[in-house]
Amino acid sequence: MSELIYKNKNVFDAPGEGELEKAQSYAEGYKSFLDASKTEREAVREAIRLAEEHGFVPITDAARHDGAARFAPGAKIYKPIGGKALFLAVIGKLPPREGVNIAGAHVDSPRLDLKQLPLYEDGEMAFFKTHYYGGIKKYQWVTLPLALHGVVAKTDGSVVDISIGEQEDEPVFFVSDLLPHLGREQNKKTLGEAFTGEQLNILIGTKPAGGEKDTDRFKTAVLELLSAKYGIAEEDFLSAELEAVPAGRARDAGFDKSLILAYGHDDRSCAYAALKAMFDLDGAPEKTAVCVLADKEEIGSEGVTGSKSQIFESFIAELTGGVDFTLKCFENSFCVSADVCNAFDPNFPDVSEKNNAARLNHGMGVMKFTGSGGKSGSSDASAETVARLRKLFAENGVAWQMTELGKVDQGGGGTIAKYMANRGIETIDAGVPVISMHAPWEAAAKLDCYMTYKGIAAIYGKNR
Ligand code: MN
Ligand code: MN
Repeated sequence: MSELIYKNKNVFDAPGEGELEKAQSYAEGYKSFLDASKTEREAVREAIRLAEEHGFVPITDAARHDGAARFAPGAKIYKPIGGKALFLAVIGKLPPREGVNIAGAHVDSPRLDLKQLPLYEDGEMAFFKTHYYGGIKKYQWVTLPLALHGVVAKTDGSVVDISIGEQEDEPVFFVSDLLPHLGREQNKKTLGEAFTGEQLNILIGTKPAGGEKDTDRFKTAVLELLSAKYGIAEEDFLSAELEAVPAGRARDAGFDKSLILAYGHDDRSCAYAALKAMFDLDGAPEKTAVCVLADKEEIGSEGVTGSKSQIFESFIAELTGGVDFTLKCFENSFCVSADVCNAFDPNFPDVSEKNNAARLNHGMGVMKFTGSGGKSGSSDASAETVARLRKLFAENGVAWQMTELGKVDQGGGGTIAKYMANRGIETIDAGVPVISMHAPWEAAAKLDCYMTYKGIAAIYGKNR
């Protein structure tokens, strides 16, 4: 083959020395992270636990200890935002105002949130009403075991943590579907119409309290159980965030165990890569490395914990020594918007354009642009940025591939990239190619997860 021809390789065909083994052990750590992180709150809690194990301290403590010097090179700090987003940094040899290298991932995933008044009974059964979060295909969320995770904030200031449905001896919950025998009318509907949001009601109990003459006795029975176990009453749901997610652990998939089937690869595969790369930094990098674990990406990155929030400016100001330096810092910064992309699926070849589709096991997927239609809504990284990444990845043994989100005019999507780029930060999208993205169980290749970690490590450590 002519040297002029570009051909992207399957990593299995040319793995670096020891890389396949390293990818396997990386995957074990990643699966543990997934199992501990079924929600954004849990992901932040687990990230902090791991960060503290690696010597990171809350930013308030670090500032006090380092006094006038503020943060010494190599200082490891973190700052949680409302328990649902997290910033971490390893201070570089250059002061942070000279620019930072950022990896920004998100830790929220599509799911069924409970409504604020979720509990009702019908047909001698008790249910929770839900309001789905993020882009789901509703038919995928029926007849599978669901676990409930989240918090109930009470007026006395206490917060009750809830996680039920993950352990073998705990009950699970589910949304019912119609039996095919009576599905004649349902079958005539389109996929998008066959299930409505208001039908995604979770069955939670069938045993009544009291006697036949009592009212609301199925609802009451559930409330009695919740009161005994969690000390909450129905009114407390008003200030609760409870999320129904697929119950169960991340599993190896395929005879060769080359894949991981799990809930929430989008975007915890990149969140874990961004974290792990930060933990594995050897001393102070040249420029300060910043890891952003954002919330609310799946619903538009709005709010305090989303990546549009000025809380990021506030955090950078803490690093640079003031807001005056923050914009200048952004100008000299780089951000990889670490988010998943879609992997080519031969079951659905028509939505992809083969020359520009990510393949499983071909490494980290880089997207120069996202958006839809004529690249609408994309920050579109510059050619120079891509060239720099090509060089950086080549020098650091990072297997990667260029990709785009499906055929032209097939659909589209976005990430946090544009919100970072709009700050004046040079930004590009890159992350793990995923099969069945946004399904309750998504699949990703271990090699691609590992290569994404390597790619982010290169960006933290050696970029610019
Ligand atoms: Mn994502
Ligand atoms: Mn997503």
